[in-house]
Amino acid sequence: MTTVQHHRGYDADVLIVGGGIVGVSTATQLIERHPGLSVLLLEKEASLAAHQSSHNSGVIHAGVYYAPGSLKAEFCRRGAAATYEFARRHDVRVEQCGKLIVATEHVEIERLNALYARCEQNRLEPQMLDEAALRELEPRIAGRAAIRVASSGIADYPGMTMTMARLAQEQGAQILLNQRVDALHEDENGITVETSGGRFRAKHAIVCAGLMADRLAKMCNVDLDFRIVPFRGEYYRLPASKNDIVKHLIYPVPDPELPFLGVHLTRMIGGYITVGPNAVLALARAGCDGGRQHGA
Ligand SMILES: Cc1cc2nc3c(=O)[nH]c(=O)nc-3n(C[C@H](O)[C@H](O)[C@H](O)COP(=O)(O)OP(=O)(O)OC[C@H]3O[C@@H](n4cnc5c(N)ncnc54)[C@H](O)[C@@H]3O)c2cc1C
Repeated sequence: MTTVQHHRGYDADVLIVGGGIVGVSTATQLIERHPGLSVLLLEKEASLAAHQSSHNSGVIHAGVYYAPGSLKAEFCRRGAAATYEFARRHDVRVEQCGKLIVATEHVEIERLNALYARCEQNRLEPQMLDEAALRELEPRIAGRAAIRVASSGIADYPGMTMTMARLAQEQGAQILLNQRVDALHEDENGITVETSGGRFRAKHAIVCAGLMADRLAKMCNVDLDFRIVPFRGEYYRLPASKNDIVKHLIYPVPDPELPFLGVHLTRMIGGYITVGPNAVLALARAGCDGGRQHGA
């Protein structure tokens, strides 16, 4: 049976749906900024970070591609710094290995120069490498020129999620697993949430349901002006003998015709390297964040 502490007729001041990194971080931030606030987080799976938050590349993005002056560019730069700071303070695995964007064809040099200018505008202190400097830094990467961005890195995002969950719980947040939210009803005094395990009442609800966000929004009768179209990216894991093949994250110059970063080599926090992705239109959402790696 599920039990939660009751506060003046409510199960919580704020109820959060979704125990990925966004939901757990929201819980931690709320409780840190408003001590005494009662926070209840409901997750449908048997563990936290069971979906995208544990099936991603683990990259701390520096914010190379975002439009200068945009909130995305600013949040990405500040978020990367905050991510390193949090990981180091709480002993979460993190490595600031930097990233290279490599032009392999002469025609890509113009786009590389434009990216360099964008990195400068986004205050990322990029470094332009010619062919010889690139070869010296990464002997196994052949290219005509490259940009090095030192602030990119990798982190253990599931570990970070668990650490934030522990911090939130230490400050009174309640986290319930195996609670799939099936319905939300709002009235003038708050919100009632029906789950596979019971019924909860809160003054406010925040939904952080990842790829299910649109379905939860529809349950709340929100008019949507977007649609989630799931793509599945498949990555191959290189054999252990290639674990030291590169020191940086290695990316191509993006093709402006495609909304993807292109096939890249990712150093993973577990010490191995992946190559990918391809991009396949996913027929089911559950499958599109669940199969990041294949053996190579
Ligand atoms: C292949 C891939 C690679 C990526 N690489 C990177 C990267 O390198 N760097 C980076 O910063 N980002 C990367 N991302 C993006 C990053 O993983 C996501 O932005 C992040 O994990 C989103 O977190 P979230 O909490 O919103 O979603 P999720 O981690 O998906 O969490 C949502 C949670 O909501 C729960 N939920 C859904 N519906 C319900 C319901 N009805 N009731 C209760 N619970 C529910 C789910 O079970 C899930 O646990 C990548 C994503 C993918 C798919």
